[in-house]
Amino acid sequence: MTRTALVTGGSRGIGAAISQALKAQGYSVAATYAGNDEAAAAFTAETGIKTYKWNVGDYEDSKAGIAQVEADLGPIEVVVANAGITRDAPFHKMTPEQWQQVIDTNLTGVFNTIHPIWPGMRERKFGRVVVISSINGQKGQFGQVNYAATKAGDLGIIKSLAQEGARFNITANAICPGYIGTDMVMAVPEKVRESIIAQIPVGRLGEPEEIARCVAFLASDDAGFITGSTITANGGQFFV
Ligand code: NDP
Repeated sequence: MTRTALVTGGSRGIGAAISQALKAQGYSVAATYAGNDEAAAAFTAETGIKTYKWNVGDYEDSKAGIAQVEADLGPIEVVVANAGITRDAPFHKMTPEQWQQVIDTNLTGVFNTIHPIWPGMRERKFGRVVVISSINGQKGQFGQVNYAATKAGDLGIIKSLAQEGARFNITANAICPGYIGTDMVMAVPEKVRESIIAQIPVGRLGEPEEIARCVAFLASDDAGFITGSTITANGGQFFV
């Protein structure tokens, strides 16, 4: 049986690795993106994975996009809420716009992604929900009041969904990556990046594939007893 998986922000970075890992496991995968058409087209050409464009921060767009994915590929049984952004600034300089953009994408975007899929999962009595949170949602981070708030909020979402989904055979889990070598982290000035790496006990950034393998496991039948939990994958930088 081919299961359908949706990965938001699945065309680049960690999401692209997740899309590919799920495809390799035999899932029929839909990867979404926000606006970078060139990267999405290149990703589809390279992997054969279909991409869809919508803003996860918009509920109606998400609902319509998800309906299109289900019309094309069948009911979504695995959803990975991965799309995320940063708009960093020390709190005293953070603008309401920077706050709101991050809330819209990283927190409301997770609601908008899971909510339209949830009723179908309940009806079919099967579902796997995985949210990509962050180490900085667990420990906070200078300059990331907005981002840390959303990523901590994502953990609240999965712990609550785990309770609501349990009797419908739906699991909900989060992964908290540490620093992974994607565009998001490579955009940080080199000096700052070097100081970040110096704080990682294993002495390197993580690879997107290392997060993707965690997702593939959580999506699998083997992980049916794991729900409401958080996999911390950060090279030993922070323990919970
Ligand atoms: P990237 O910046 O490399 O990729 C982000 C992806 O999300 C792109 O596909 C982008 O689309 C999409 N996206 C962004 N905003 C929206 C939106 N509003 N609607 C739909 N899609 C959107 O990010 P990473 O791979 O680095 O991060 C992926 C997730 O992992 C994020 O949630 C991030 O917070 C989290 N994370 C990352 C860490 C890291 O070190 N990289 C560490 C911990 C957590 P487009 O290509 O069109 O821009």
